[in-house]
Order: sequence, then C-alpha cells, then structure tokens
Amino acid sequence: MSEDKVTQIVKQVKEVEEEFDMTNEDWKEPISQLWEVCEESMLWVYPNTETEAFLSQIWKQSLEAFDKPREVQVIVDAKDDIYMSVGTPGFVSFLNQEGNTEGMKLPIKCWIHTHPFGMAYFSGTDWTTINTWKGELESAIVLGDAQYLAYDCESQIAKRIEYGMYNEGEEE
Ligand SMILES: [Zn+2]
Repeated sequence: MSEDKVTQIVKQVKEVEEEFDMTNEDWKEPISQLWEVCEESMLWVYPNTETEAFLSQIWKQSLEAFDKPREVQVIVDAKDDIYMSVGTPGFVSFLNQEGNTEGMKLPIKCWIHTHPFGMAYFSGTDWTTINTWKGELESAIVLGDAQYLAYDCESQIAKRIEYGMYNEGEEE
C-alpha cells in the first residue's frame, strides 16, 4: 500500500470519528453486564445459546445506541476481558481509541464486530485484520441482521447461522 493511500485512509477514519461524540459510553454497560453473567459459558467457533444472547446484545447496541446504526467491535482477550469500541472498521481504529486496549493479553479469543447494513461476511478490511493478527487471533465473528458468521482462524472453518425471532408473522 502506498504512503499516499495510508494517509488518505487515516484522514477518512479521523473524519468519521470527528462527526460523532465518542464520549458517551452508556452503550457499553448492557454488554458488560451480560458478559459478567455469561462469560464462563462462551463458545466462539460453535456459538451456544449464551453466546448468541451475548451476540444479540452487541447487535442491539450497534443498531439502537447511537445517532445512527454503527459498527460495534468487541474483543475478548486471553484473560476473558472484553474491549469495546464503536465507529470505524478494523483493529487500527480500535487501538486508536485510547485506553481501550490497555492490558490486553494475547492471543485474542474472539474478535466480534457488526455490519449494521445487515450482511454477515468478511469484507476486504476484515480479511486484512484477520491476516494481520494471524497466530494471535483464535476466532472472529461478524454479526449481521438475524445472522452471524463464526470463523475458526486456525482451521479456517466458518459457520454462518441465521437466528432470531421466528413466528408466523403477517402473511402477504
Ligand atoms: Zn466487517
């Protein structure tokens, strides 16, 4: 990647961050609370019910907690501590949100992030992140609308699940 390109990306990231007030961190509270209750039961590569409940809470905050739906990231480190950030894609911006990653212990058990536009897949940026953290990242989960993709970085096996409320609803 050329230096110009890097400068350009950094500039774009800054612009995105400046338009939104990052000081309000209320959105982290419901995620932290749920984490305290269920952290012992988490399964990242083949998520169980507790894990799905945790993922649902992250998705909810991503859609409802901000001025508009925003990308939320949660990192679970080797100590089962969680680190949260909002707004911009990739670990780079994560590390830029000061204090967020202090004390983080590698390897990272899971990198979770949302795609508020709805589709659960890894974008080019996501693959860059995954490849950059190769060996230090055990799994990655991307959340979309009523779906998620869970990826085992070592075996490269992914599982895409549709989940959420299901009922007869209104027929057309
Ligand atoms: Zn992504």
